[in-house]
Amino acid sequence: MADNGGARKPLMSGNWKMNHNHLQAIQVVQKLATRLNDKTYDVVDVSVHPPFTGLRSLQTLIEADKLPIALGAQNCHWEESGAYTGEVSPQMLAKLNVVYVVVGHSERRQHLGETDEMVNKKVKAVLAAGMTPIMCVGESMEERQEGDAQDKVQGQVRAGLEGVSDEQVGGMVIAYEPIWAIGTGETATADDAQEMCEAIRVLVADTSSDDAAEALRIQYGGSVKPDNTAELMDQPDIDGALVGGGSLDPDDFAKIVQFQASSD
Ligand code: PEP
Repeated sequence: MADNGGARKPLMSGNWKMNHNHLQAIQVVQKLATRLNDKTYDVVDVSVHPPFTGLRSLQTLIEADKLPIALGAQNCHWEESGAYTGEVSPQMLAKLNVVYVVVGHSERRQHLGETDEMVNKKVKAVLAAGMTPIMCVGESMEERQEGDAQDKVQGQVRAGLEGVSDEQVGGMVIAYEPIWAIGTGETATADDAQEMCEAIRVLVADTSSDDAAEALRIQYGGSVKPDNTAELMDQPDIDGALVGGGSLDPDDFAKIVQFQASSD
Protein backbone atom coordinates (compact mmCIF):
# COMPACT_ATOMS: atom_id res chain seq x y z
CA MET A 1 0.00 0.00 0.00
CA ALA A 2 1.06 3.59 -0.41
CA ASP A 3 3.47 5.09 2.08
CA ASN A 4 1.48 6.94 4.74
CA GLY A 5 4.03 9.73 4.86
CA GLY A 6 4.95 8.86 8.43
CA ALA A 7 1.43 9.29 9.84
CA ARG A 8 1.73 6.06 11.81
CA LYS A 9 4.26 6.56 14.58
CA PRO A 10 6.45 3.46 14.86
CA LEU A 11 6.03 1.42 18.03
CA MET A 12 9.22 -0.25 19.27
CA SER A 13 8.34 -2.93 21.83
CA GLY A 14 10.68 -5.00 23.96
CA ASN A 15 9.29 -8.46 24.73
CA TRP A 16 11.48 -9.80 27.50
CA LYS A 17 9.79 -13.20 27.54
CA MET A 18 10.73 -15.11 30.76
CA ASN A 19 13.79 -12.97 31.49
CA HIS A 20 14.69 -10.32 34.09
CA ASN A 21 13.32 -10.48 37.64
CA HIS A 22 11.73 -7.32 39.04
CA LEU A 23 15.05 -5.90 40.28
CA GLN A 24 16.76 -6.49 36.95
CA ALA A 25 13.73 -5.01 35.20
CA ILE A 26 14.19 -1.75 37.10
CA GLN A 27 17.89 -1.59 36.21
CA VAL A 28 17.21 -2.25 32.53
CA VAL A 29 14.56 0.46 32.24
CA GLN A 30 16.69 2.95 34.18
CA LYS A 31 19.58 2.34 31.79
CA LEU A 32 17.32 2.43 28.75
CA ALA A 33 15.85 5.76 29.86
CA THR A 34 19.29 7.35 30.13
CA ARG A 35 20.03 6.36 26.52
CA LEU A 36 16.78 7.77 25.06
CA ASN A 37 15.79 11.41 24.87
CA ASP A 38 12.90 13.68 23.94
CA LYS A 39 13.91 13.56 20.28
CA THR A 40 13.54 9.79 20.38
CA TYR A 41 10.09 9.91 21.92
CA ASP A 42 8.99 12.51 19.36
CA VAL A 43 9.49 10.04 16.53
CA VAL A 44 8.81 6.63 18.07
CA ASP A 45 6.66 5.10 20.79
CA VAL A 46 8.47 2.69 23.11
CA SER A 47 7.07 -0.12 25.24
CA VAL A 48 8.65 -2.70 27.53
CA HIS A 49 6.98 -6.03 28.32
CA PRO A 50 8.46 -7.63 31.44
CA PRO A 51 7.17 -10.86 32.98
CA PHE A 52 4.14 -10.23 35.23
CA THR A 53 6.39 -10.06 38.31
CA GLY A 54 8.07 -6.91 36.99
CA LEU A 55 4.96 -4.92 36.14
CA ARG A 56 4.31 -3.23 39.46
CA SER A 57 7.96 -2.24 39.95
CA LEU A 58 8.15 -0.78 36.46
CA GLN A 59 4.86 1.05 36.87
CA THR A 60 6.26 2.72 39.98
CA LEU A 61 9.52 3.64 38.24
CA ILE A 62 7.89 4.93 35.05
CA GLU A 63 5.39 7.05 36.96
CA ALA A 64 7.85 8.37 39.57
CA ASP A 65 10.41 9.39 36.93
CA LYS A 66 7.76 10.43 34.38
CA LEU A 67 9.35 8.26 31.71
CA PRO A 68 7.65 8.34 28.31
CA ILE A 69 8.00 4.55 28.11
CA ALA A 70 4.77 2.57 27.93
CA LEU A 71 4.27 -0.44 30.15
CA GLY A 72 3.33 -3.63 28.33
CA ALA A 73 2.34 -7.17 29.31
CA GLN A 74 3.08 -10.40 27.45
CA ASN A 75 -0.28 -12.10 27.87
CA CYS A 76 -3.53 -12.14 29.81
CA HIS A 77 -6.71 -14.18 30.24
CA TRP A 78 -9.96 -13.06 28.64
CA GLU A 79 -12.11 -13.25 31.78
CA GLU A 80 -12.32 -10.41 34.29
CA SER A 81 -11.95 -12.68 37.34
CA GLY A 82 -12.78 -16.19 38.48
CA ALA A 83 -11.48 -19.72 38.93
CA TYR A 84 -8.58 -19.60 36.47
CA THR A 85 -5.58 -20.55 38.56
CA GLY A 86 -2.35 -18.94 37.43
CA GLU A 87 -4.00 -16.46 35.09
CA VAL A 88 -4.06 -12.66 35.14
CA SER A 89 -7.03 -10.65 33.90
CA PRO A 90 -7.01 -7.62 31.59
CA GLN A 91 -8.57 -5.54 34.37
CA MET A 92 -5.66 -6.40 36.70
CA LEU A 93 -3.24 -5.21 34.02
CA ALA A 94 -5.23 -2.04 33.34
CA LYS A 95 -5.06 -1.25 37.07
CA LEU A 96 -1.26 -1.18 36.74
CA ASN A 97 -1.57 1.30 33.86
CA VAL A 98 -0.48 -1.28 31.33
CA VAL A 99 -0.92 0.19 27.85
CA TYR A 100 -0.13 -2.69 25.46
CA VAL A 101 -0.75 -6.42 25.84
CA VAL A 102 0.91 -8.97 23.56
CA VAL A 103 -1.69 -11.52 22.51
CA GLY A 104 -1.18 -14.79 20.64
CA HIS A 105 2.63 -14.83 20.64
CA SER A 106 3.78 -17.85 18.61
CA GLU A 107 5.54 -19.31 21.66
CA ARG A 108 2.14 -19.44 23.39
CA ARG A 109 0.39 -20.79 20.30
CA GLN A 110 3.12 -23.44 19.87
CA HIS A 111 3.91 -24.54 23.42
CA LEU A 112 0.77 -23.64 25.37
CA GLY A 113 -1.99 -24.55 22.94
CA GLU A 114 -3.28 -21.03 22.33
CA THR A 115 -5.80 -21.18 19.48
CA ASP A 116 -7.12 -18.48 17.12
CA GLU A 117 -10.36 -18.54 19.11
CA MET A 118 -8.54 -17.87 22.38
CA VAL A 119 -6.52 -15.11 20.72
CA ASN A 120 -9.74 -13.48 19.49
CA LYS A 121 -11.25 -13.60 23.00
CA LYS A 122 -8.11 -12.03 24.42
CA VAL A 123 -8.05 -9.27 21.79
CA LYS A 124 -11.63 -8.32 22.67
CA ALA A 125 -10.99 -8.52 26.41
CA VAL A 126 -7.89 -6.31 26.19
CA LEU A 127 -9.82 -3.72 24.16
CA ALA A 128 -12.76 -3.86 26.58
CA ALA A 129 -10.36 -3.10 29.43
CA GLY A 130 -9.12 0.01 27.59
CA MET A 131 -5.70 -1.30 26.54
CA THR A 132 -4.17 -1.96 23.12
CA PRO A 133 -3.57 -5.51 21.93
CA ILE A 134 -0.42 -6.37 20.01
CA MET A 135 -1.76 -9.39 18.16
CA CYS A 136 0.97 -11.71 16.88
CA VAL A 137 0.66 -13.68 13.66
CA GLY A 138 3.20 -15.62 11.61
CA GLU A 139 3.95 -18.72 9.60
CA SER A 140 6.32 -21.65 10.19
CA MET A 141 9.23 -22.40 7.86
CA GLU A 142 7.34 -25.40 6.51
CA GLU A 143 4.33 -23.24 5.66
CA ARG A 144 6.60 -20.71 3.93
CA GLN A 145 8.34 -23.43 1.92
CA GLU A 146 4.97 -24.90 0.90
CA GLY A 147 3.84 -21.46 -0.31
CA ASP A 148 1.17 -21.27 2.41
CA ALA A 149 2.58 -18.32 4.37
CA GLN A 150 0.04 -15.71 3.27
CA ASP A 151 -2.93 -18.03 3.75
CA LYS A 152 -1.76 -18.91 7.23
CA VAL A 153 -1.18 -15.32 8.31
CA GLN A 154 -4.35 -13.99 6.72
CA GLY A 155 -6.33 -16.77 8.42
CA GLN A 156 -4.88 -15.76 11.79
CA VAL A 157 -5.68 -12.10 11.15
CA ARG A 158 -9.28 -12.84 10.11
CA ALA A 159 -9.86 -15.09 13.13
CA GLY A 160 -8.16 -12.78 15.60
CA LEU A 161 -10.17 -9.73 14.50
CA GLU A 162 -13.53 -11.49 14.31
CA GLY A 163 -16.21 -9.26 15.87
CA VAL A 164 -13.81 -6.36 16.55
CA SER A 165 -15.17 -2.99 15.37
CA ASP A 166 -13.44 -1.09 12.56
CA GLU A 167 -12.54 1.71 14.93
CA GLN A 168 -10.98 -0.71 17.40
CA VAL A 169 -9.02 -2.44 14.64
CA GLY A 170 -7.61 0.95 13.60
CA GLY A 171 -6.27 1.49 17.11
CA MET A 172 -4.62 -1.91 17.35
CA VAL A 173 -1.20 -3.26 16.64
CA ILE A 174 -0.53 -6.45 14.67
CA ALA A 175 2.92 -8.00 14.93
CA TYR A 176 3.98 -10.06 11.93
CA GLU A 177 6.48 -12.54 13.33
CA PRO A 178 7.55 -15.41 11.09
CA ILE A 179 8.06 -18.27 13.54
CA TRP A 180 11.30 -19.36 11.86
CA ALA A 181 12.82 -15.94 12.53
CA ILE A 182 12.01 -15.78 16.25
CA GLY A 183 15.05 -16.26 18.45
CA THR A 184 16.96 -17.95 15.62
CA GLY A 185 19.13 -15.08 14.42
CA GLU A 186 17.47 -15.42 11.00
CA THR A 187 15.55 -12.35 9.88
CA ALA A 188 13.04 -12.08 7.06
CA THR A 189 14.38 -9.91 4.26
CA ALA A 190 12.98 -6.40 4.30
CA ASP A 191 11.16 -7.20 1.03
CA ASP A 192 9.56 -10.38 2.40
CA ALA A 193 8.54 -8.66 5.62
CA GLN A 194 7.07 -5.73 3.66
CA GLU A 195 5.18 -8.09 1.36
CA MET A 196 3.47 -9.81 4.28
CA CYS A 197 2.76 -6.59 6.18
CA GLU A 198 1.21 -5.12 3.05
CA ALA A 199 -0.91 -8.26 2.60
CA ILE A 200 -2.14 -7.87 6.19
CA ARG A 201 -3.06 -4.23 5.59
CA VAL A 202 -4.88 -5.05 2.35
CA LEU A 203 -6.82 -7.79 4.13
CA VAL A 204 -7.80 -5.42 6.96
CA ALA A 205 -8.99 -2.86 4.39
CA ASP A 206 -11.19 -5.60 3.00
CA THR A 207 -12.51 -7.08 6.27
CA SER A 208 -12.71 -3.82 8.28
CA SER A 209 -12.33 -0.52 6.42
CA ASP A 210 -9.77 1.58 4.55
CA ASP A 211 -9.54 3.92 7.52
CA ALA A 212 -8.86 1.05 9.92
CA ALA A 213 -6.18 -0.36 7.58
CA GLU A 214 -4.49 3.05 7.26
CA ALA A 215 -4.44 3.61 11.01
CA LEU A 216 -3.46 0.09 12.10
CA ARG A 217 0.18 -0.26 13.13
CA ILE A 218 1.95 -3.38 11.89
CA GLN A 219 5.17 -4.38 13.59
CA TYR A 220 7.77 -6.81 12.32
CA GLY A 221 9.29 -9.26 14.79
CA GLY A 222 11.96 -11.94 14.42
CA SER A 223 15.63 -11.46 15.32
CA VAL A 224 15.50 -7.67 15.07
CA LYS A 225 18.94 -6.30 15.93
CA PRO A 226 20.60 -2.89 15.91
CA ASP A 227 22.10 -3.50 12.47
CA ASN A 228 18.96 -4.67 10.65
CA THR A 229 16.32 -2.38 12.15
CA ALA A 230 16.64 0.67 9.87
CA GLU A 231 16.14 -1.31 6.66
CA LEU A 232 13.06 -3.08 8.05
CA MET A 233 11.57 0.14 9.42
CA ASP A 234 12.12 1.83 6.06
CA GLN A 235 9.36 -0.32 4.51
CA PRO A 236 6.07 1.54 3.98
CA ASP A 237 3.87 -1.03 5.75
CA ILE A 238 6.16 -1.73 8.71
CA ASP A 239 5.37 0.55 11.65
CA GLY A 240 7.66 -0.69 14.36
CA ALA A 241 9.20 -3.82 15.81
CA LEU A 242 8.44 -6.45 18.43
CA VAL A 243 11.88 -7.30 19.75
CA GLY A 244 12.72 -10.31 21.91
CA GLY A 245 16.39 -11.10 22.52
CA GLY A 246 17.52 -7.71 21.21
CA SER A 247 15.53 -5.90 23.90
CA LEU A 248 17.11 -7.57 26.94
CA ASP A 249 20.21 -5.41 26.90
CA PRO A 250 19.39 -1.70 27.27
CA ASP A 251 22.29 -0.63 25.03
CA ASP A 252 21.13 -2.84 22.18
CA PHE A 253 17.48 -1.96 22.63
CA ALA A 254 18.30 1.76 22.70
CA LYS A 255 20.10 1.38 19.37
CA ILE A 256 17.11 -0.49 17.92
CA VAL A 257 14.68 2.14 19.20
CA GLN A 258 16.87 4.90 17.76
CA PHE A 259 17.15 3.25 14.35
CA GLN A 260 16.47 6.60 12.69
CA ALA A 261 19.73 8.01 14.06
CA SER A 262 21.69 5.35 12.14
CA SER A 263 19.80 5.99 8.90
CA ASP A 264 20.08 9.82 8.99
C1 PEP B 1 9.65 -12.05 20.05
O1 PEP B 1 9.82 -12.48 21.17
O2 PEP B 1 8.53 -11.61 19.72
C2 PEP B 1 10.77 -12.06 19.10
C3 PEP B 1 10.59 -11.58 17.90
O3 PEP B 1 11.95 -12.59 19.55
P1 PEP B 1 13.41 -12.36 18.90
O4 PEP B 1 13.56 -10.90 18.63
O5 PEP B 1 14.36 -12.87 19.94
O6 PEP B 1 13.46 -13.15 17.62
